[in-house]
Amino acid sequence: MSAAIIDGKKLAAAVKAEAAAEVQQLKEQGVVPCLAVLLVGEDPASQVYVRGKANDCAECGIESRVIRLDAATTQEELLARIDALAADDAVHGILVQLPLPAHIDESAVIAAIPPEKDVDGFTPVNAGRLLTGEPCFAPCTPAGCLRMIQSTGIDIAGKRAVVVGRSNIVGKPAALLLLAANATVTICHSRTRNLADICREADILVAAVGRQGFITGDMVKPGAVVIDVGINRGADGKLHGDVDFAAASEKAAFITPVPGGVGLMTRAMLMKNTVAAARAALERQQ
Ligand code: NDP
Repeated sequence: MSAAIIDGKKLAAAVKAEAAAEVQQLKEQGVVPCLAVLLVGEDPASQVYVRGKANDCAECGIESRVIRLDAATTQEELLARIDALAADDAVHGILVQLPLPAHIDESAVIAAIPPEKDVDGFTPVNAGRLLTGEPCFAPCTPAGCLRMIQSTGIDIAGKRAVVVGRSNIVGKPAALLLLAANATVTICHSRTRNLADICREADILVAAVGRQGFITGDMVKPGAVVIDVGINRGADGKLHGDVDFAAASEKAAFITPVPGGVGLMTRAMLMKNTVAAARAALERQQ
C-alpha cells in the first residue's frame, strides 16, 4: 500500500481563501480584522515565523501590526504593551511569539492576553473552554491537524486515536479536539510503556514528539491516518518530521508530509482564528 498524501499546501490555501472571503464580508460591515504580533529579541526562527504571519495576513486582507521589542525588554514593559493592545478596539488578535527571553515568565505573559483576543488559543481560559467543550479559540496546530484528518473523509467517531506528545500547545489540545470529534483517544509521552504497541492500534496517529523519525513503519497500523506535527532540523540541514515518512507511507492510508504539511495549516488556522475574533468583536458591539 502507498498512502495518499494529505496536501498541506492545498488545504492551507483553501483555509486562507475562506478567511479572505470572511475578511471581505467584515470589511463591507466596516471592520478590518487586525492581528498584532509581539516579538521580543532577535531569535532567527522567530523572525522567520513572524514574517510568515505578516505575509499570511497580507494575503488574506488582514491588517498586521508587528511590534518588535528589544531582547532586554522587561516583563512589565511587555505586559504594558499587551494591556495597550487589549484596550485597542482596532486590534482583534494578540499573539506573543514564543519562546520569550529567559527573564520573562511566559505563563504570566500569555495569561495577560484577553481570551477574546487570544487567537493562538494558549491562555488558560481558552484551554479550559476547550476542555469543557465551550466555544473557544483552539490552538492553531491541533486545529490544523483536525482539519487535515477531516479532509480525508474518514468518520472520526469511534476511531482509535493515539497522540504521541502531551505539550499544552500541541499534544493535549490535539487529544481534546479528537475527543470532541468522538474518537477514543490515548495520549502517549516519554513515560509511556509499550508505546509502539499502542501506536499500532491507532486508526489515527498524531506524532508531536520533536524527534526525527521517532514513528517507524512498524508502529503504523495498516490503513491508518498519520499526522506528522514534528519539525526537526536533520543532520542534512533539511526539515524532517517525527515520522519515518517512507516506511509509514507503505502502511498508512493517508499521511502528511514534512515540510508541506501541518506547518502550513498552522499558519492558515491563525488567519481563521483572527477573522473569528474580529467577527465576535463586531457581534459584541451590535
Ligand atoms: P514539546 O517538547 O513541548 O513536547 C514533546 C512531547 O513529546 C512531550 O510530551 C514529551 O513527553 C514527548 N516525548 C519526547 N520524547 C519522547 C519519547 N522518547 N517517547 C515518548 N514521548 C516523548 O514539543 P511540542 O509539543 O511543542 O512540539 C512537538 C514537535 O512539533 C516539535 O518537533 C515541534 O517543532 C513541532 N511543532 C510543529 C508545529 C507546526 O506548526 N507544525 C507547531 C508546534 C510544534 P513528556 O511530556 O513526558 O516530556
